Amino acid sequence: MTKRIFRSVCFAALCVFAASMILFMGVLYDYFSDVQKKQLRMQTGLAVQGTANEGMSYFDGLVTKDYRITWIGTDGSVLYDSRSDTDEMENHLQREEIKQALEKGTGESSRYSDTMMERLLYCAQRLPDGTVIRLSVSQNTMFTLILGMLRPICIIFLAAVILSLFLASRLSKKIVSPLNKLNLDDPLNNDCYDEIAPLLGRINSQQRRIRQQGNELIRKKREFETVTSGMREGIVLLNGSKNILSINAAAKKILSADEPITGENILSVSRDPALREVVEGSQSGAHTEAVMRSGSFDYEIGASPIISDDKTVCGTVLLFLDVTEKNKAEQMRREFSANVSHELKTPLQTISGCAELMANGMVRTEDIPDFSSRIYTESRRLIRLVEDIIRLSHLDEGADDMKRERIDLYFAASETVRCLIPEAEAVGVEISLKGEHAEIIGIPQLIRGIIYNLCDNAIKYNRKGGTVNVEIISDEKNIKLSVEDTGIGISEENRSRIFERFYRVDKSHSREIGGTGLGLSIVKHAAELHNAAIELQSELGKGTKITVIFPKE
Ligand code: ADP
Repeated sequence: MTKRIFRSVCFAALCVFAASMILFMGVLYDYFSDVQKKQLRMQTGLAVQGTANEGMSYFDGLVTKDYRITWIGTDGSVLYDSRSDTDEMENHLQREEIKQALEKGTGESSRYSDTMMERLLYCAQRLPDGTVIRLSVSQNTMFTLILGMLRPICIIFLAAVILSLFLASRLSKKIVSPLNKLNLDDPLNNDCYDEIAPLLGRINSQQRRIRQQGNELIRKKREFETVTSGMREGIVLLNGSKNILSINAAAKKILSADEPITGENILSVSRDPALREVVEGSQSGAHTEAVMRSGSFDYEIGASPIISDDKTVCGTVLLFLDVTEKNKAEQMRREFSANVSHELKTPLQTISGCAELMANGMVRTEDIPDFSSRIYTESRRLIRLVEDIIRLSHLDEGADDMKRERIDLYFAASETVRCLIPEAEAVGVEISLKGEHAEIIGIPQLIRGIIYNLCDNAIKYNRKGGTVNVEIISDEKNIKLSVEDTGIGISEENRSRIFERFYRVDKSHSREIGGTGLGLSIVKHAAELHNAAIELQSELGKGTKITVIFPKE
């Protein structure tokens, strides 16, 4: 802007200078031409007087310098010429100034002289004898005038250039500096040219509108963030270049992003192939889904394209759903079905084999009791297995139909212990109960199931002459039921797995003693339904202590 003003002012100043120079030179030229003509007339008058008095002798020794004198006879022949040979000169009767002089006494003209090759001014005057004296002088041209004034012109030009540069620079700065000082944050409070008042008013109204729109956007963004920040599902909004526009806390956690990542390309934040697949799929306009693994969690990612009015994809919404539990449950269900089929098949095969042999008469009479007892044992095992499966699936469904009531844990334990005394005695194990009466709110069948399974295992996995101690302790916060045995113990690697369905440390031994592999799963589930925690302490070859901790509240 400053430069443009500077250039314009300089240009205008130079134009004015050039125009005034042309005008000045024109006026000067006219003035000098007039002066020259006057001098020419005066000189002609003098020459006429001289010739009239002295005749041809007047020209002897005459120094004419710039002037050319020609004396023309009445017939037009040249009698004398100060520059050319009179014999070679043509008749002058037809020359304009001669004609005028012969007619009126004086004549003037100006033209190119063929002989002198320049523009000449002519002045002619008739003598009393009818002859004509003509003086001519070469006229000053504009070029000679300029040439003669070159030095002052150059000095004036230089002074004009310097002055105009100085003035242009000052003027341009003076014009621009108030504009530079404008306070655009408060456009109406500026003391500047009146001409820009409408512009400032417009800026002010536009700023107000932008502020309103900005506030509205911030409000909507905050609303969106408040809604999405509380969500467990991860939500990410991407623009058409896959850059993150918005991301909620859950999505940041899933993508393991600690730093602020808004504005970054999602594929540089996470290089997961599943994520890349859905992002690229959605950017081509299709809703895409895939499962992504992050740490120990599985996430189902749904990517939906955002289609603009002109039917192009301008962004993507990514939704991350935690499907870890769902996948685990599905996996467990699959494993459970396979295990159940396997567990049912073994006793059924034994029963069917024995029955087939007996039906074909291939069993000796004395062996029939043995075969019958095997069929009985296996069918009992089947019944126990089916009962445990039913119990577990009942627990899986939440056991909502079962009523909760006040239960004295000591009393429930004493009942179970009494029932198990014969079983314990049969394997040479001593079972005892100690502790205090403590009440909890719970489902009686499940509490009895917990105590039974723990005591049953403590007897089954014991050694001859071993003991089982059941104890009920109540402290400020909890009521603890512990079952401690002096049995075979559980190795460290098996301790975390014995609560899994159908998991058994020694499969054949467990089967032999009538185990189903579901007892501790039932205990775990039942404890969970009572918000109880389970603690396991065990030492291989020395014994095991399992404690169920019921919170008092
Ligand atoms: P099972 O019907 O085989 O007893 P459980 O679920 O009750 O099934 O127990 C799972 C496995 O945990 C058992 O097979 C056994 O190997 C181990 N176990 C459970 N309780 C004890 C214990 N008190 N001492 C040693 N091992 C035990």
